[in-house]
Amino acid sequence: DVRHGPILYLEDVSVSFDGFKAINNLNLTIDDGELRCIIGPNGAGKTTMMDIITGKTRPDTGSVWFGSRHNLLTMNEPDIATLGIGRKFQKPTVFEALTVFENLELAMATDKRVLPTLTARLTGEHRDRIEEVLNLIGLAQLHHREAGILSHGQKQWLEIGMLLMQKPRLLLVDEPVAGMTEQEMERTAELLTNLAGEQSVVVVEHDMGFVRSIAKKVTVLHQGSVLAEGTMDQVSNDPKVIEVYLGE
Ligand code: ADP
Repeated sequence: DVRHGPILYLEDVSVSFDGFKAINNLNLTIDDGELRCIIGPNGAGKTTMMDIITGKTRPDTGSVWFGSRHNLLTMNEPDIATLGIGRKFQKPTVFEALTVFENLELAMATDKRVLPTLTARLTGEHRDRIEEVLNLIGLAQLHHREAGILSHGQKQWLEIGMLLMQKPRLLLVDEPVAGMTEQEMERTAELLTNLAGEQSVVVVEHDMGFVRSIAKKVTVLHQGSVLAEGTMDQVSNDPKVIEVYLGE
């Protein structure tokens, strides 16, 4: 399901905070349409890596490319988002007083191309996209309900849906199943698996059972660089990885 080479490419990326190397010669390639899980102990640099990809943090050295044409280090945060990189933070931030449908409608409005038409009526195309996303996230039945009544898991899916309104090419998802029930975790695994292919998905997650259930390829970060990469079986049997996790 890999389509045409890398969508994201980090080469020899480093960043220090007060002399401490949070990211240390990090090399990472994400293929187009891939679903990748990033794991690693606390302080490994996972959040900092996401911040670098989205332009929130500038690395001291190295290069970051999106596709073959976009040097992300020359771009600011909003322009990187517009390019098609969506980030889902751990805590859901949906508009509780608005309906599920209205949340998706509003998410579309942050796309500058759509904003002028929103004040008028939604075009058929926009309505179709909202319906498509409602089906993807499994909330079609609840489209007219206020987001405030949704379960924690449903709010997480709605927020993923809001990101999908912009048709991102790369979705960065931070700890999607924290606080979810077993059943919600299964639905989330299904959702993320379904999304991959159409877009690339990078998931940072602590729940190893969940990672095992979705990931074809796992990257283990440690002290700001890649410690191991491969299938869940490969990395979980790697003595270096075992040592790092036992030492946590
Ligand atoms: P993870 O997400 O894997 O837990 P982080 O990327 O949050 O790791 O952090 C990596 C290291 O960098 C940690 O030791 C953290 O304390 C440090 N760090 C992250 N951001 C900053 C910052 N803005 N200022 C100082 N230190 C930071």
